[in-house]
Amino acid sequence: MNHAPQELLLSIVAPCHNEEEGLGEFCRRAEATARGIAGEAFEIVLVDDGSTDGTWEVIAALAAKVSQVLGVRLMRNHGHQLAATAGLAASRGERVLLIDADLQDPPELLLMMMPIMDRGADVVYGQRVRRQGESWFKLASASLFYRLLSRLASVAIPRDVGDFRLMRRRVVDILLAMPERDRFIRGMVSWIGGRQVALPYERDGRFAGTTKYPLRKMINFAIDAITSFSTVPLRISTWLGLASVGCAALLLLYTLVRWFAGETIVGWSSIMAAITAFSAIQLICIGIIGEYVGRLVQENKRRPMFMIESLAQGGRSLDIPGG
Ligand code: UDP
Ligand code: MG
Repeated sequence: MNHAPQELLLSIVAPCHNEEEGLGEFCRRAEATARGIAGEAFEIVLVDDGSTDGTWEVIAALAAKVSQVLGVRLMRNHGHQLAATAGLAASRGERVLLIDADLQDPPELLLMMMPIMDRGADVVYGQRVRRQGESWFKLASASLFYRLLSRLASVAIPRDVGDFRLMRRRVVDILLAMPERDRFIRGMVSWIGGRQVALPYERDGRFAGTTKYPLRKMINFAIDAITSFSTVPLRISTWLGLASVGCAALLLLYTLVRWFAGETIVGWSSIMAAITAFSAIQLICIGIIGEYVGRLVQENKRRPMFMIESLAQGGRSLDIPGG
């Protein structure tokens, strides 16, 4: 990756999707924190991920006012993970903070992350000890997801950790060099390794607006995460197949015994039950395999991860992987 000579100490990267109400406040707090740490040598990269409200106008206005703000507008909604990737690709700082724009992750935590990195950490990630303003369903599903993932994944992905993290340039460059389109950033960063340190924090409620992660996106996100970090589901489908062979053999044995005993079996219900159960298992297994095959097809196309529509700081050419 060709980065300009590093004069920026810090980049703050925030993906934004329909965040017009809270962005001003986010930018104010992020800017104040960054200024206290890096003087003028920082940037705030705000990525507009295909918003349908006035988010881009707000970003453009902020960029016009604060010279450290760089606005990146994507051509359409690419989703949180790709929007974050676009922001990381545009960033140039020696250290990069990835953070949500809704103020659920307090930018001020940077004050605690920086000294930990000074002592040698490559990555300092926020670990949520308590989350305010979330529904019980969100908390329960998130908890289930993190537990499932940590059992299935081939690398250790810490629990209750989002993408809120401070990374060294080195780590960001490796992350950007990873070519996959299906990006589960927190898992990819875990995979990179190095010295990664957890910083416990309390997750606030949203400053404004509502979650941009409805159930449908949450399920897709979970499937993406699991399929890109584990092939255990494929193994499970093999085991399910073997188990059904065992069941079928027992059933056959039972039928034969009854037949030799001269009993005619009136077994419509049991046949129906067996057929539906086994077809369900087969469909599930085909579905699991399909998830992986589908991923192969998608990755194989090697399309750009995101398309940039315009920038709000002008005059700077960007080095974008695959873009
Ligand atoms: N986001 C995005 N693209 C999307 C959905 C969300 O860039 O398609 C951003 C959103 O603006 C926020 C962050 O990703 O800054 C996290 O989203 P959200 O707060 O809705 O998720 P939650 O915190 O509820 O899990
Ligand atoms: Mg949020």
